[in-house]
Amino acid sequence: METRAEGENSLYQAALDVPVDAFGIPVIEGENSLYQAALDRWGAYAQLDQAIEECSELIKAICKYKRDPHSENAMAGIREEAADVFIMLEQLALITGPFDEEKSKKLEKLRGLLQEGQ
Ligand SMILES: [Mg+2]
Repeated sequence: METRAEGENSLYQAALDVPVDAFGIPVIEGENSLYQAALDRWGAYAQLDQAIEECSELIKAICKYKRDPHSENAMAGIREEAADVFIMLEQLALITGPFDEEKSKKLEKLRGLLQEGQ
């Protein structure tokens, strides 16, 4: 495998010097191997479509729960779809590069908002 020299993930890849697949997706061993295998099997484009679908299913499950907040089935539906979205987010991180830094900034912003409200 070759390291991709340019493109949308080049900074991420250059920083980590990781090998990439035919789609330019970083190949990461270990806990991400299942996610990587999914990307290798179906490709990034299909997995982006899958991420869109799973997000829409979570939105629908939340709407269903709001209509019937006492329903255990509706709550279970949210958990199931949230798990699907989580799995897709892990694959998204392999496609876009990690977004831990962005997440930290958002959490810091949230902390600030919560402190303002005290
Ligand atoms: Mg789903």
